[in-house]
Amino acid sequence: MLDESIRELESRCLARIASAATPEELEAARVEALGRKGGLAQTGKDMGKLAPEERKRIGQSLNSAREKLEQALEAKKGQFAEAALRGRLDAEWIDLTLPPPGPHRGHLHPITRIQREFEELFASLGFTVLDGPEVETEYYNFDALNIPASHPARDMQDTFWLHGGNLLRTHTSPVQVRGMERLGPPLRMIAPGRTFRNESVDASHEHTFYQLEGMMIDRQVSVANLIHFMKAMLTAVFRREVIVRLRPGFFPFVEPGFELDVQCLLCGGSGCPVCKQSGWVEQLGCGLVHPNVLRTSGIDPEEWNGFAFGLGLTRLAMMRYEIDDIRWLQSGDLRFLEQF
Ligand SMILES: [Zn+2]
Repeated sequence: MLDESIRELESRCLARIASAATPEELEAARVEALGRKGGLAQTGKDMGKLAPEERKRIGQSLNSAREKLEQALEAKKGQFAEAALRGRLDAEWIDLTLPPPGPHRGHLHPITRIQREFEELFASLGFTVLDGPEVETEYYNFDALNIPASHPARDMQDTFWLHGGNLLRTHTSPVQVRGMERLGPPLRMIAPGRTFRNESVDASHEHTFYQLEGMMIDRQVSVANLIHFMKAMLTAVFRREVIVRLRPGFFPFVEPGFELDVQCLLCGGSGCPVCKQSGWVEQLGCGLVHPNVLRTSGIDPEEWNGFAFGLGLTRLAMMRYEIDDIRWLQSGDLRFLEQF
């Protein structure tokens, strides 16, 4: 009678343990089987009424049922623990081959990129890249460039004057003067950098913009040399053969002076809105260095001559990347910058 109820209890409890779906259900099964008021304990209470022989036998089968149930509980507990561990490992798994999150690295500004392209190109042609101060003296910005105080060219440049007679350079040409003074002839140099003019700002005018000027001084430099270098430069920058033309242009520091135009890259010369239907786009100013400029910097114009040129890096960047408003470039607006 007791034998039977122990076997029944055992198989019922084993089934409950096996079917427990959560650690909570398993604990309930344990309490029901092995707890102080559980099935085995209740059965044990009845043993007192048994004969000693019987009591021993029933005691043994109770113990063996207890052992079986404890083993089943431990095994099931182990399963739950393993499943929990596996779940945690799945959730916390890290793919070490993925790039780390970390901060966004960013990239170069489009103007910086163009400037560096020029620097590499001219370095490969034997030119030195020179830097100069953005706050200049009147002498380097105007006088040494054949622009005396009375010269009308000073009116062409709306200048930011500073206290004490200095100014924010209106072009990178002062660096050419510094280069001539310091290095002397023969000289091949470029001067990229930031320049400032007191412009009212709109879609095509900025008070702060980037220029690149260059100069080559040697014996018997001609306009043919000038054209050769300008074509090499523009072909490299636009990454294709370009057709250029020279028109007379006035810059106080060159004689003769030219405006150099490039045949419109968009329409190939047939006329479009970008070239204002002319087929040509004005690209840079250039010329043979004025003898006065050489003389001022201590170079004998009887022995040496050279060419100089200047172009707007800002405008070039706008053409290259088809940017229709100059104000974007200095805006610091990430929606704009992240496109490059
Ligand atoms: Zn065109």
